[in-house]
Amino acid sequence: MGRRALITGITGQDGAYLAALLLGQGYEVVGLARRSSSAEFACHRLERLGVASDVKLVDGDIVDLSSVVRLVGEHGPDEIYNLAAQSFVHASFTQPILTGQVTGIGVTNLLEAVRIVNPKARFYQASSSEMYGRVQAPIQSETTPFYPRSPYAVAKLYGHWITVNYRESFGLHASSGILFNHESPLRGLEFVTRKITNGVARIKKGLQRELRLGNLAARRDWGHARDYVRAMWLMLQQDVPGDFVVATGRAASVADVCRIAFGHVGLDMNDHIVTDAQYLRPAEVDTLLGDATKARDVLGWTPQITLEEMIVEMVEADLKIAASV
Ligand code: NDP
Ligand code: GDP
Repeated sequence: MGRRALITGITGQDGAYLAALLLGQGYEVVGLARRSSSAEFACHRLERLGVASDVKLVDGDIVDLSSVVRLVGEHGPDEIYNLAAQSFVHASFTQPILTGQVTGIGVTNLLEAVRIVNPKARFYQASSSEMYGRVQAPIQSETTPFYPRSPYAVAKLYGHWITVNYRESFGLHASSGILFNHESPLRGLEFVTRKITNGVARIKKGLQRELRLGNLAARRDWGHARDYVRAMWLMLQQDVPGDFVVATGRAASVADVCRIAFGHVGLDMNDHIVTDAQYLRPAEVDTLLGDATKARDVLGWTPQITLEEMIVEMVEADLKIAASV
């Protein structure tokens, strides 16, 4: 019997890569997607990976418990990956309540659906390194205390603990992946790496002159989404559920990413970057650096793609897009 997976957030970056991975393993993939008046654009990431026609999309919203219960009941998935979220930190400061409802309470809706109608399903929660916020240790692992710095991170912390709580209270096979930032050519344009690679490509093609950014000193542990969805899948293949940090163990600054991206096309970043206060946050996360020893030892997971390789792949993809404008 083939396995069936339900992915929420299938239209996002990770949803597309995870769907491709699972289809490649022979899974039947069902994806929950929000109804939209522009449905023709909803699948652009799945289309770019060539898998849009292989997944079954069903209408639903994770803030709507009834639609989630119905989907889990109707499709009987063996594995459920909850990737849906209001995922942009900056937007969470202006939409804190929506962020709490989707990114926080939405997780409980999924867990309730599992508990009530399909308690044998294995559950993955997309937790985030943003939960470490004002970091309490120079390198963050599963045992580092959390200190969230945005409504997004506060909502993710709720989602993380409710996942742990349902595992401990009801014996669900529920795992939480504490993933550090991960990027790709499919990353949303508002996130800094893609904003940089898209900006560099457009500058190179003469479509814009400057790139306006906020805090260039911020440091992140950046990996590739293709590597990180593999870790999600591995978590649900374990006999015992748990919490896992997924990270590369290397931090770089926003300025470092600019240097790699501009350097790749032979431009000097100093000729084009303009700092703009509108991109600063009310509370910043200055630095994140993960220790993925547990993922390596228990899951056998290690990242394969370096920061330089990833940024070059993103610039090249954005050059193709800019050339077609
Ligand atoms: P994206 O922003 O690319 O995707 C978010 C997805 O959630 C989209 O498919 C979006 O649908 C969907 N969504 C939003 N609100 C709802 C809702 N109310 N009901 C149903 N679906 C909804 O995020 P990523 O793919 O980058 O990230 C996947 C998950 O991992 C997210 O939970 C994110 O917070 C988390 N994460 C991501 C990290 C990263 O660096 N990428 C790091 C750590 C955690 P639509 O297309 O309609 O907007
Ligand atoms: P985050 O780690 O989930 O907030 O991912 P982002 O890609 O949105 O931001 C990463 C870091 O880049 C944060 O510390 C931001 O403050 C910083 N940054 C600097 N300039 C920008 C910008 O113009 N846009 C975004 N999104 N982030 C920026």
